[in-house]
Amino acid sequence: MLKKKGMMAASFSVVIASSLLMGNASFVSADAHMNGSAVVAATSNTTLADMPAYLKSSVEWVWKNRMLTEGSTNRKNLIFDQIFAGKGTLNYVVRWQSSKPVTLQQRQDIARMLGRQMNHWTEHLQGYDGWPYKNIKVKVVGWAVADPSLLLDKQPDEVVYTDTIVDGLASEQPEIPAALPVAPNEISRFEHFSDPNYSYPGGLDKRFDMYLWATENFGGGAGGDWGQRMNDEYVLSTVNADEIEITEHEMGHSFGLNDFYEEHERPPGGFPTNTIMWAGDSDHITDWDIWMLRYTWSQIKKDTSRFPTTTKDDEGPIETDPNEIVNIGPAAIASSSYTSSWENVSALNDGFEPANSNDRSHAVYGNWPETGTQWVQYDFDQEHTVSQTDVYWFKDGAGIDVPKSYKIKYWNGQGWSNVKQAKGLGTAADQYNATTFAPVKTTKLRIEMVSMGSASTGILEWKVAAINK
Ligand SMILES: [Zn+2]
Repeated sequence: MLKKKGMMAASFSVVIASSLLMGNASFVSADAHMNGSAVVAATSNTTLADMPAYLKSSVEWVWKNRMLTEGSTNRKNLIFDQIFAGKGTLNYVVRWQSSKPVTLQQRQDIARMLGRQMNHWTEHLQGYDGWPYKNIKVKVVGWAVADPSLLLDKQPDEVVYTDTIVDGLASEQPEIPAALPVAPNEISRFEHFSDPNYSYPGGLDKRFDMYLWATENFGGGAGGDWGQRMNDEYVLSTVNADEIEITEHEMGHSFGLNDFYEEHERPPGGFPTNTIMWAGDSDHITDWDIWMLRYTWSQIKKDTSRFPTTTKDDEGPIETDPNEIVNIGPAAIASSSYTSSWENVSALNDGFEPANSNDRSHAVYGNWPETGTQWVQYDFDQEHTVSQTDVYWFKDGAGIDVPKSYKIKYWNGQGWSNVKQAKGLGTAADQYNATTFAPVKTTKLRIEMVSMGSASTGILEWKVAAINK
C-alpha cells in the first residue's frame, strides 16, 4: 500500500511540474517556428549510427544529464512498455471532467485523433533498431464522465463509467469541476503494470493504458505514464488537426521525454533545431524529437527483461540485413481453440526462452483436459511474408504431452490452407522444433495439433520467422 501511494505521488508530481506548460498561453502557440529540416523517414535498417551528426551532442547530453539523472525512463510503464504489453495496441479511457456535451461524431473524432497523434511519434520507430511494431492500434475503450447524459446519442457498444472522486486542484482553482470521473482500478494498467502475474478481468483487450483527460477551464497541459491532460475546449477545437501541439507534447512525456523550461535544463549551446518538448518552441515533432525518441528506445531496449524481443547487445552500430529474418511472434495477438483457465495463451509469444519442456517459471499455454485436435493462432495487424516457425512444446509428465502430429496453416483471405513444402514438424521435447515451408503472405497463422492418446497438448513458446520488409 505504501508503495502504491509512492507511485501515485510520483505520478502526481509529474502532473504538477508539467501543468506549468503554457499556463497562461492561448491554445495554439503564437511562437511556433518552423523547423527547416525535413523529417527523415526510417528505412528498415535504421540504427543509432544513422543519427545525423548535428543532433548527436545535444541528444546525448539530454539523455545523460536529464533523463538518466531524473530517472525519466525508470517506471516500466512508458508508452514503449505499454505498446509491448498490448502487443502493438494502446487502449485509452477518455476522462471527461467537463460539463460540455459530446456528440457521437466528436467521440469518434477523438478516437481517431488519439491514433493519429500517437502514430506521429511511433511512425519514427518503425524499422528502427529492433522496434517490432508498425502502425499502433489506438482504441478508446471507455468514457469516464460524471454526467452520462453528456454523451449524446450513446451507442450500445460504448462503455461509460460514472464514478467520481474529488479533484484536489478544484480547491485551489474553483473554476475547475470538483467531480473527477474515474474508470475502475481493476482495468487500469497504471495500477497493475508492476505485477507481471496480474490479469485484467475480461482479458487484456479490456484494460486501459492511459487517460485522455479533458478538464474544463484547465490551463496548459500535463503528461505522464498515466496519460495526457489538457483543456476540454482544446481537445474539441483541435480534434481534426493533423499535428496537435499540446497533445503531442504531453504524449512525449508519456514516452519519458523531458521539459526544457530553464536554461540549465537545455543542452549547453542550445538545440540544433526546434523541439516540441520545449513548450512553445515547435508546434510539431521535429528531427530532434524523433532522434531523442529513438535514442531513448535504443537505451532502454538494452534491458531485455523489459523488452524481451530485442535481444541484440547494442555495442556500436548494428549490422542489419534488410532481408533479415525476424521473429514476429511477439507482435501477434495469440488465441486458441481452448486454454485451461489457469494457463495463459499469451505465453506463446511472451518472448520467454524455456529451459526445458516442463519449465513453469513463466506462464505456459496448455489445453488440459481437452484432447483430439486443438489449435493456437496468431493474428497480425498487417501482412507478413513467413517461411518458418519454431515451436517449444510443453510436456509436464502428467496430463500434457507433445502432440502426435500437427499442421501449420495460414489464412488465405477466405479460409485456412496448409503451408506448402513443410519440412520439420518435429515433436521433440526440451528444444525448439523448426519447420520451414514455402513463403506465404498472410495476416494469421495456426498450429493445428492432434493430441497423443489421452494427453492434452501445450506450448511454451512459438516463434514465427518473417522477412523483415
Ligand atoms: Zn511538458
